[in-house]
Order: sequence, then structure tokens, then C-alpha cells
Amino acid sequence: SVERSEEIQNARMGLPVVGEEQKIMEAIHNNSVIVIWGATGSGKTTQLPQFLFESGFGNPDSPNPGLIGVTQPRRVAAVSMANRVGQELGQFSDQVSYQIRFETTVSKKTAIKFMTDGILLREIADDFALRKYSIIIIDEAHERSVNTDILIGMVSRIVDLRKSMSEEDPSIKPLKVVIMSATLRISDFTENHALFRHGAPPLVQAEGRQYPVTVHFARRTHRDYVEEAFRKVSRGHRKLPPGGILVFLTGQNEIRQLSKRLKQAFKPTQRVDTTQAKVQFTANDAPLEAEDLELGGTEMHNDGYDDDSDLEITGLDEPEDDEDFDLGEEAMDSSTKVHVLPLYSQLPTKEQMKVFEPAPENSRLIILATNVAETSLTIPGIKYVFDCGRAKEKQFDLFTGVQSFQVGWISKASANQRAGRAGRTGPGHCYRLYSSAVYEGDFAEYTDPEILRTPIEGVVLQMKSMGLHNVINFPFPTPPSRQGLVKAEKLLKNLGALLSDGQVTQVGRRLATYPLSPRFGKMLYIGHQHGCLPYVIALVSALAVGDLFVAQNEIDPNAFARNSKPKQLESDDSDDERKVYTNADRLEDTEREQKMKDYARVHRLLGKHDDTSDALKFLSAICAYAYASDGDAFSEQMFLRGKAFKEATQLRRQLTDIVRANNPGLIGSYEARLPEPSAKQIKALKQIVTAGFIDHVAIRADLAPVPPEIPRAPRRAIDVPYLTLFRSREGPAEDISERAVFIHPSSIMAKLTPKEMPQYIVYSHLQQSAPSVVALDQTPKIR
Ligand code: ADP
Ligand code: MG
Repeated sequence: SVERSEEIQNARMGLPVVGEEQKIMEAIHNNSVIVIWGATGSGKTTQLPQFLFESGFGNPDSPNPGLIGVTQPRRVAAVSMANRVGQELGQFSDQVSYQIRFETTVSKKTAIKFMTDGILLREIADDFALRKYSIIIIDEAHERSVNTDILIGMVSRIVDLRKSMSEEDPSIKPLKVVIMSATLRISDFTENHALFRHGAPPLVQAEGRQYPVTVHFARRTHRDYVEEAFRKVSRGHRKLPPGGILVFLTGQNEIRQLSKRLKQAFKPTQRVDTTQAKVQFTANDAPLEAEDLELGGTEMHNDGYDDDSDLEITGLDEPEDDEDFDLGEEAMDSSTKVHVLPLYSQLPTKEQMKVFEPAPENSRLIILATNVAETSLTIPGIKYVFDCGRAKEKQFDLFTGVQSFQVGWISKASANQRAGRAGRTGPGHCYRLYSSAVYEGDFAEYTDPEILRTPIEGVVLQMKSMGLHNVINFPFPTPPSRQGLVKAEKLLKNLGALLSDGQVTQVGRRLATYPLSPRFGKMLYIGHQHGCLPYVIALVSALAVGDLFVAQNEIDPNAFARNSKPKQLESDDSDDERKVYTNADRLEDTEREQKMKDYARVHRLLGKHDDTSDALKFLSAICAYAYASDGDAFSEQMFLRGKAFKEATQLRRQLTDIVRANNPGLIGSYEARLPEPSAKQIKALKQIVTAGFIDHVAIRADLAPVPPEIPRAPRRAIDVPYLTLFRSREGPAEDISERAVFIHPSSIMAKLTPKEMPQYIVYSHLQQSAPSVVALDQTPKIR
């Protein structure tokens, strides 16, 4: 039996799920599929695998010898939960492993395997019966990620398959499935007859959150929530009793910005009045150039308001909700430092894991997170949550094929999950940066399942090549639109992956072996002409990982604010501000200018092969990276995202192996350092990229067969209107302003003159942006 430390033993005793162990295990023994609902923190993720382990699952000598598989939507959760369960299992800790995209600790001893759901999906492609598992736990099902939904549909069939297999061959055991959810929105699973044909799976509840969390709404809702987070967290840090703070924001730019300000405000030596160091102005007053500077992907900030009058613009002397910070206990010592850590999915796993380490003596842990931290994770010592109430979500327009990221209100369910983060290791408080009126009036009950907001060609092809032909009738928990499925099939046919009757072709079968979208698969498939394959692999890896370059505004997010005068600066304020502008600042300005010059030089260098191809620029970058002796130093020097390049390089190696395994003779073993491509190869590479994006062609509007009326001659490349081959936006066809698309300011072509812009453009994706709305990440400040 498991020998657990006393501390762990006591902690387990308090968990609601532990109280239900018998009920849960009985349900599992009597049913092939069960659903467990338990509030966040009730012990589902850490305890269920242990119950199963202790009752013999995963033990080669038991009636259930197969592995206990546990899926997680996110890598950081798979790794950290495996660690925690390992700890709790005392002497059996080495039987708990994890597997994520590029990393695994699985060994012969493994009995419990945590993995991302993507990993399990690929395993299904290799063995549809999942013979190595005796039970699959699908965790965080309430998040409704695409992979989770597909997995649930798949396992509902695999359970039936394993049942009939075991009837024929008793050495094969049936498969059990546990679906776990932190919310009660489970009718998509339990009441879906297509999904569970033999009747609804039983629901086992483990009610009761472990510790109470007091929720405090703001009296007012501010548009600039990053600023508001700064104000509230600063106050909170000064007034609240000891305990870690977890702040929910929407993206890494915001996190970086708030982190910098908090560190500055609470520098150990000098005391700064943190509420004064800012100039507020609304999005509409910000200079338009801001949009051009935002090179790293523009996001549309949609806070759900159409009418500005609903929003309060922060005034400096506005009454605060300070009494909410008076908890009847003593605040931390005023000398307490802040220990600020970021947590978002692009952060390297090693950096992510830092949030689980104790903060240094005499400091308060402040974690700035995206909704990575919303559900699965327990971060020890977090007592206070500050929730901005927004998230950046992938939006996908099935009609137009336009994909965008938008910041919008989260759902009530998400807000409650976020609040729950404060009550995991003790009673806590959640400070919402929005009013209860906004919460009641503007928050949906639940977020739409991701499958309704995502391009599904890859999913369709993956499913087809797993032998599931009738994708339209697949038991999706929430079926995507028929139209979307039909469109995906059309693209796959355009790429030659499917026959006109929907059968997977040789090409399609090949494409499905690549862990890539079928567009990239197509590029690999035709990439062997003129000895291009190693370049195509490098290029595809770079394109698939994406977001390779540090955006210009990230070098210094304040740069543009300094060069442009905010219109609504109040005179007395600005006088104050100017006094603070010192020689040191001037020195910094010179350095900044130098950096901007370096940045421009680097990008000129990377664009040397072709001044109209961003794809070839990606290729130059990843090839140059391979020549560097120190990748990190090189990334720093060249303004590259080191993590993205590491990942792309890993993908390059992996793809080379896969291509070699599939077509021995086509390509030699992996060569990191490639010679410069010849002119002929460069031409071929451009054709290959076009083949992958054959339906993503746009024509310069004035050179179209029937040119529309163009009201103004464009002055810059980014103003030159293009028309896509397929209608890309809804709206009246005759109105050019409703139909045109433009190149992104970060494109290499932005440097051309309007005349030089080519007749045809192949684009990777369209993105929606609102020119009048400036990304809130960039709220200008003057020191
Ligand atoms: P659920 O999956 O139901 O949301 P978990 O099983 O993840 O809950 O966590 C249950 C409880 O176990 C947490 O509330 C917390 O008290 C404790 N716990 C989990 N992980 C850790 C950890 N890394 N350190 C300390 N306590 C933890
Ligand atoms: Mg959990």
C-alpha cells in the first residue's frame, strides 16, 4: 500500500473527492463510462488517478493491467499534475509520468500517464483500440477544447470496440472512460444520444469547494483594465494580509507591461507614489501610427461596449474600493518586496514551473497569468485573485475563413473558475475589476465550445485517415456546422488530399502522417523538386510554429508614446511629468534609437533573398539560426523569439525523420546548416508555398478584371487594396471599403511603394483589425 507523508495524508482527507472515493470506484466498476463533476479544487485531477492506481489499474498483475491515461488540455498542467501525483504517491512516485509534444518521462514502470489530449489523439491514429490503456480519464472536459471534444467522440466508439474485442478474445480487456468536469454544463455529453448510444453515463458529484472564496466586485468597470489592474494590485499589495496574488490578464504583452510597472513601483529602495505615474487617454485619442508599429499581430479589443458612455475613464482622485482590502487582519510589513512571475503558454516550461516554487523571504508572490491558470493548476499559497474579466479568444468565421484573436468578456463559468484559484490551499478573496452589473448583464453563462470557433480541415483529415469517413455524422459533443465540414472537405479536395467522393488519397494519407495542417503537408509532399526538400522542411517548420520575430514595439513598448504628444494631456499634469524627464532618460533614448536601427538592419538582412516574400524571410531566419553557435545569444541579437526558434528547429528535425521514414531515398539525414538556396530553388520554393495556399490568393484591386472604384490613391503599401479570390468579408459587393484586404504592417512588402506592389499575393491568413482601436497593451505613458 502507498506510504504517504502525514502532511499529504491530512491534505487529502479534506478533499471532497476523497469523501466520495467509494461511490466513484463503484460507479467505475459498474459502468464503462462515467462523468464526474466536482468544483475546482475538489481533488479530481490529483485523486482519481490515485484511487485507480490503488485499486490495481495499471498494475501488470491485476485484472486491469493497461495504463491509466489522463489527458490535459495544456502542457503545463500535464507536467505539474504528474509531479504532484508523483509526490502524493510516496514510494510509487516513479510510476507517474507525463508526455507532452517534445518531452516524455514515460518508462517501463509507468502506470499513470499524464499527457496533452493531442498526444492521445495521435496514439488513436496508431492504434484505434488504445490497447495499452485500461482506463482513460478526460480531464477538464468543461473547457471544451477541440481535442477534448474529438477525444470524447472517439472514446465513446473505442469503448464499444474494446467491448466486442474482449468478447472474442478474453485477453483483451474492456476500456473504461472517466470524463471530469469542473462545471455542471455537461448535458452535451450526458444527453447526447449520438455520443453514448447505450444510455446516458452516470454522473457522480463531489460537491463543495474546499475553502470559501469571497468575491468583491468593482464599483465601476474601467476600459483600461491593465491600468486598473496596476492600481488595484498595488493597493492590494500594500493593504492585504500575507498571501500570494494571482492576476488574470489576456496576453503576454499586458503581462510584460504590468510586470515591469509593478517591479518599478515596488523597487526596494525608493518609495514611489504608484498612482501618479500615468497619463490616461482613450483609445480614440491615441496616434494612428500605433497600429503600424504593432508588428506582432494586431488584436481587436472588443470589450463588449458599443457606447463609450457606459465606461468610466479613470480619474486620479476617484474613490477606491479600498474597504474591500480591509480584511480585519494586519497587512504585510511595509518593507515586503514583490516577487512578480509571468505565466502564459508561450513561456518555456522551465519558466512556467517557477510559479510552483516558494517566493523568497519577506516578499509577496504576484503571478501575472493568462487563462492558462484558469482551471487545472494549483499554485501553492495563492490567496488573492485579481480578475480583469477578459480573455483573448480565437474567433473563426466559418463563412469567410477569417481567423482573429479578440479580447472579450469571459463567461460567468470562467469568472467563477478564476475566483476558485484563490481557495485552493486556504480561504481566499477574488477582486473583480468589473462591476456586478457588467457581470450579470454582459457575461454569457458559458464560453462556446472551441470547435465552433476553429478551422477544422486538419481535424477532418485526421478523422478521415483514422478511418472515420462519415465525419458529418461523427458523434461530436457539439457538432460543428455542416457548412464548415463541407468547406473543410473542399479545401482538402483542392489540395488533392481527398477524392471527389470523399475518400482519402495517397496524398491525403501522407498529409495525415505529418503533425501539421494539411496545407503544410501539401508543401512537404511536393517539396522534393530541385532538391528543395530540406528547405521546404525548414520553411514549413518556421511557418507552422509562427510568431518568430520580436515585434518592433516590444523592444520598447513606450517608444511611440514618447515621440507623440497625447492630445488630452492636462497642462499641470504635463508640467509635473516633464520635470521627471532626466539625463538618464535621454541616454536611454539614444540606446533606443540604436536598437531601432539594429532592428531595421536585421530585418533588411533577413529579407535579402526576396523583397516580396515573408515566407522566404522566415526561411532565412531559421537557416541563419542553425548556423549560430549560441542560439539564445543569436536570438537576442537578431530580435528573434528564442523559444519559437527552438521549437521550429525541433520540428525541423522531427519532420526530417518522418519524411525519411515515409520515403527513404528522398532526403538524407538531418542537416541543420544548409547552403544558400539557388535562384532556381528560390523560385521553386515560392511555387511550393503557393500550392499550399492555392485558395488564398488575392489580386490588386486596380488590376482586377473588373476593377472597383478606388476612392483615394494609396500613399503607402499597406493602403493598397487587394481582393481575395473567394469573398473574404461580408458586406455590399460594390463597396471597396467593405471588400478590400491589405497587407499587414509587419509584412516585408510594407516597405515597397504602392506602385511596386505585385498583382497577386498569396496570404497565410486574414486578420480582422479595427484601425480606430489601439491595442490596450500600448497605453502610452510618460514618465
Ligand atoms: P481539481 O482537479 O478537482 O480542480 P486538484 O486535484 O487539482 O483539484 O487539487 C485538489 C487540491 O489538492 C487543491 O485544492 C490543493 O489543495 C491540493 N493541491 C493540488 N496540487 C497541489 C500542489 N502542487 N501543491 C499543494 N497543494 C496542491
Ligand atoms: Mg483538475
